[in-house]
Formats: sequence, C-alpha cells, structure tokens
Amino acid sequence: MSKTYSYAAQNPNDALKPFQIERRTPGADDVQMDILYCGVCHSDLHTARNEWNNTLYPSVPGHEIVGRVTAVGAAVKHFKVGDLAGVGCMVDSCQHCASCAEGEEQYCENGFTGTYNGPVFGGENTFGGYSDNIVVKEKFVLRITHGEDANLAAVAPLLCAGITTYSPLHHWNVGPGKKVGVVGLGGLGHMAVKIAHAMGAHVVLFTTSPNKREDGLRLGADEVIVSKNPDEMATQANRLDFILNTVAAPHDLDAFLNLLKRDGTMTLVGAPDHPHPSPSVFNLIFKRRSLAGSLIGGIQETQEMLDFCAKHGIVSDIEMIAMRDINGAYERMLKGDVKYRFVIDMATLKEQASAA
Ligand code: NAP
Ligand code: ZN
Repeated sequence: MSKTYSYAAQNPNDALKPFQIERRTPGADDVQMDILYCGVCHSDLHTARNEWNNTLYPSVPGHEIVGRVTAVGAAVKHFKVGDLAGVGCMVDSCQHCASCAEGEEQYCENGFTGTYNGPVFGGENTFGGYSDNIVVKEKFVLRITHGEDANLAAVAPLLCAGITTYSPLHHWNVGPGKKVGVVGLGGLGHMAVKIAHAMGAHVVLFTTSPNKREDGLRLGADEVIVSKNPDEMATQANRLDFILNTVAAPHDLDAFLNLLKRDGTMTLVGAPDHPHPSPSVFNLIFKRRSLAGSLIGGIQETQEMLDFCAKHGIVSDIEMIAMRDINGAYERMLKGDVKYRFVIDMATLKEQASAA
C-alpha cells in the first residue's frame, strides 16, 4: 500500500478538499503511474454532488488520466517504466460475459468497475484521477500514441470526452456524405465536432450560446445553429442523418428529433440528473426515427480512438487549472463557461502536498 494525495468530496454539499488515500502495491498484472494530467468531466461534478444518487463517499473523481509509468508487475507485457500511459472511465470488468468477450466492457453484464465510484452494481469504492498516482490492471491501461512532443494535457480529455463521442459516431457509421448534428459545445461536444469532421462528415453544431459560433466553425463545424432561435432551427428540419446530443441538462428532445431525416437516429450521451420531458411518439413513428443512448466505449475502441486522434492531430482545447482551483472550475462548468475542457496539472497537487 502507498499513501497517495488526492482531492475528495466528503459529501454532496461541501467543496472538494485535500484527502489522503491508499493505492494497492502493484500486483503481477498491474501498472502503476504518476498522474501528470487529469481532465475534468461533467460526470465528475454529477458524482461529487451525488446528482445521480449513487455516490460513494469520500469521492475522488477524475477519469481522463495521462501519466507516466513508475512500476509494472511481473506479468505486464506492453508497458515499461517511463512509458506514457492513459486511463479512462473503467479499471476492471468481469472479462467473461458476452459484452466483455466482444470488447464492449462498458456494457459488462456483471458491471464494470469505474475508475471512481466503484463497481456499477455495488462494491468497494474506487478513487479516480484527482490524485498523484494510480494503480490499474494492464488490460485497462491505454497507450498514448500522440508522441512525447504532443500537448499531453490536451490528450487527457480524449480518455472520456474523446471515446464517448468517437464510439457512437463510429457505431452509427458517420463519415463522408453524412450530415451530422452535434448538440452542446462543451467538453464532449467539442470533441464530437472535431472527430465527426475528421471522419469526413458534414457537421452542424447546435449551441445555446451565440458567442460560441466562431469557435464552432474553427473546431470543424460546417454550420452553427443557435438552438434557441426557432428560425435557425427550422432551416435544418428533416436534414440530418444522425445527431449526437451531449447536453448535461434536461431539455426538449422534440426540437432535435424533428431535424432527423427518415430513418435518422439521435443518440443521447448527456446524462442529466433529471429526466428529459418525454418526446412526442409522432416525431418517431412518422419518419421511423430512432432515439438511442451510448456509454463511453470499450478498451480496444478507446485505443483505436487515441490512434485515430493521433493520426489526425486531434487533441482537446483546454484550460489548465491547479488542483486547488477545482471548485471554481465546477461553478464555471455549470455556466457553460469552459473552452472547452478544464485539465488539472497534477504537479500542482504534488507541490501542495509537499508544502503541507
Ligand atoms: P459540459 O462540458 O458541461 O458541456 C455540456 C454542454 O451542454 C454545455 O457546454 C452547453 O453547451 C450545453 N448545456 C448545458 N446546460 C444546458 C441547458 N440547460 N440547456 C441546453 N444546453 C445546455 O459537459 P460534458 O463534460 O461535455 O458532459 C456532458 C454530459 O455528458 C454530462 O451529463 C456528462 O455526465 C455526460 N457524459 C456521459 C458519458 C456517457 O458515456 N454517456 C460520458 C461522459 C459524460 P452550449 O453552450 O453549446 O449550449
Ligand atoms: Zn467523463
């Protein structure tokens, strides 16, 4: 066991504060890494504040981790001390159900183990990336193929925001000739715009924030629609093959279902704390439209996504913060005031710990 510095929420109402946790001594299959950077996902905030009513406290969020390997177990094959490595939303799964066999560990029928907040069907808590090191089974550790010269802090958000958008875009065959809507320009949304553009699709961004119009175009959108403006929305009616909806709050889904062509699909990845108002059945049946959902992505697919992003020079647009600034960052995220992902420089936690 080793002592590890972290930032934790102790209950839904208090700010995150310094907290000491223990990590296991690496076993034969384990990779231990020093965490260099950790992205700040809206799921971290939902969890720290128990918005999904399932938080185990103390809660150490963080599942967009880039680090450097400091130790490997005897059976580890693909990592050595000094390598860069990544960890996303999962650190384990049953490895024997049909979903695990197909590399879809996020749909593990016995429940995957989240990087934080423990196994989905209950069990011991796990502590995430708002900490100075982590120990993870090799099977759940990703290779960072952007190269040592890349902006590694900007690679970190790919481990959740990248895979959560790449997986449905890939699954629903987004590519050349397809018109794709992305709803919400936050952490997930800006990755979706970049990735769908790199896949060759025509990308239409829907934002509630008129001041994000220029950024939307710069990030790769071909058109930007301010979703609060009914005239602008009307220009897209029945035009889209696929919509990826990343919004973190309940909203009217019909406004977007109406924009799908016949047989089009809107996939929800945003996970608000309260349900959306129920969509109109008529919007679905008259054009055989589908409303779907998608959860992160499998480990092999996460590696594919990292390699795809490395090949296309895709990283996240980030604002670096110190660990002590996390609570202010959460408030800004709630206001949609992030361009477009906060990433914690974990050296700041190490400095804070050594000064304490
Ligand atoms: P984020 O950075 O806060 O972005 C969310 C965006 O949604 C905002 O930037 C804003 O974009 C839009 N938005 C927020 N409140 C809105 C409202 N009331 N009405 C309309 N639009 C609003 O969050 P994120 O990290 O991208 O995460 C988005 C959601 O996905 C969260 O619920 C998160 O928990 C979930 N998530 C799901 C998965 C999965 O596997 N399915 C994985 C990771 C995260 P505009 O300003 O452009 O409108
Ligand atoms: Zn996330």
